[in-house]
Amino acid sequence: MGYIEPAPIKDKENPLDSMMSRFDEATRLLGITEEMYNILKIPAKQVVVGLPVTLDNGKIKVFEGYRVIHSNILGPAKGGIRFAPDVNIDEVKALAAWMTWKCAVVDIPYGGAKGGVACNPREMSEGELERLMRAYTNAMLSVFGPDRDIPAPDMGTGQREMAWLMDEYSKAHGMTIHAVVTGKPVVLGGSLGRLEATGRGVMVCALAGMERLKINPYKSTCAVQGFGNVGSFAAKLLHERGVKIIAISDISGGYHNDKGIDIDEAMQYIAKNSGTLEGYKGAEKISNEELLTLKADVLVPAAKEDVIDEEIAHKMQCKLIVEGANGPTSAKADPIINEKGILAVPDILANAGGVTVSYFEWVQNRLGYKWTQERVNRRSDRIMKEAFDKVYETMKQYNVSMRIAAYIVAIDKVAKTYQYRGGY
Ligand code: NAD
Repeated sequence: MGYIEPAPIKDKENPLDSMMSRFDEATRLLGITEEMYNILKIPAKQVVVGLPVTLDNGKIKVFEGYRVIHSNILGPAKGGIRFAPDVNIDEVKALAAWMTWKCAVVDIPYGGAKGGVACNPREMSEGELERLMRAYTNAMLSVFGPDRDIPAPDMGTGQREMAWLMDEYSKAHGMTIHAVVTGKPVVLGGSLGRLEATGRGVMVCALAGMERLKINPYKSTCAVQGFGNVGSFAAKLLHERGVKIIAISDISGGYHNDKGIDIDEAMQYIAKNSGTLEGYKGAEKISNEELLTLKADVLVPAAKEDVIDEEIAHKMQCKLIVEGANGPTSAKADPIINEKGILAVPDILANAGGVTVSYFEWVQNRLGYKWTQERVNRRSDRIMKEAFDKVYETMKQYNVSMRIAAYIVAIDKVAKTYQYRGGY
């Protein structure tokens, strides 16, 4: 029992190292045995394929594709497909584990997986991408399946690629199989409410956190980093619930207005301005670093990984952090945030609204039925609130941060399920 050596935290951490150090800490606190530690750590399946694809110039290029099923203990595996030049098997392995903990923390019956193809989608034509996606799907026919492994979009892929995947998989089986993939266009069996689902889950966690900290939303202020899918919907939905959004940002920089930013207006602005806030006049320009350290009750980092390091953590003035992005806080920043008494709702909980509604998409596909947006929202809000409460209670019980508590909830669930199912 309880033997596990902590993984050393490297000088330069990356988000995946940070995840592993938190995983190790949670397994130690739970007193997980060495055998169980290895079962939870080592992926169940790793597949690497070569994908010869004819380019528009007539030449054939071979791409390398990956799919890792980290765990299928709780149910079929679930996880996105990443198209990016630097994707490699180690990254995919770590991201697959992240999915296992995310699904377990919100208590949906999925294991974790991730896929990727090393390619540069920005330099490829639509035809080349379609051939690549179909080749990848074909190579993974025995891996994917509604009861085995259900992919979804990730960086570099979206609805269009998921439609090709569904079509290719369906053709190979001689029938339409919607439930093999989620994140599809709504006309092809996608779910209403998926677009705003992650931002909505962030909003539910932010309100639940404010309630615990006795912050009245109508008298509260919030800064949001990143104004893409997650950040813009989180800002909009919080704004609709009385929270004053005093700063937003994107790659062009931060925009600060103590009187509050009109989020609908900002969303209309980026829709007309090629998707960027550049030149937005409703606020004073600040840097992204300044945004993170503003005096606001709530901070929502919803842009990218690794933005809150030790230096930023020392300067932070918020009371509540709700991590819309994956891995925005380094493991070295965690103790500083905890010492300052800031409540940090971790990524594997705060941004799990997306995978929750993906799960609803799969449920609807299997039922052959379509839910209203109202039903989707009501059910995802309930799941997110229950997960928040469970993690919060675990935090009190173990006297740890909410982040470690989330890992404890997830790891405990997967370990107990494994014990019931048994091994060889
Ligand atoms: P997106 O591409 O729609 O938006 C990203 C936003 O961040 C954009 O506004 C972009 O300009 C901004 N940005 C990029 N680099 C920045 C920088 N250096 N500084 C400040 N802003 C920067 O992406 P998204 O789907 O909203 O995802 C955001 C984060 O949330 C990612 O970490 C993603 O992995 C995570 N996430 C997304 C989902 C989802 O359903 N979309 C689910 C779970 C987690």
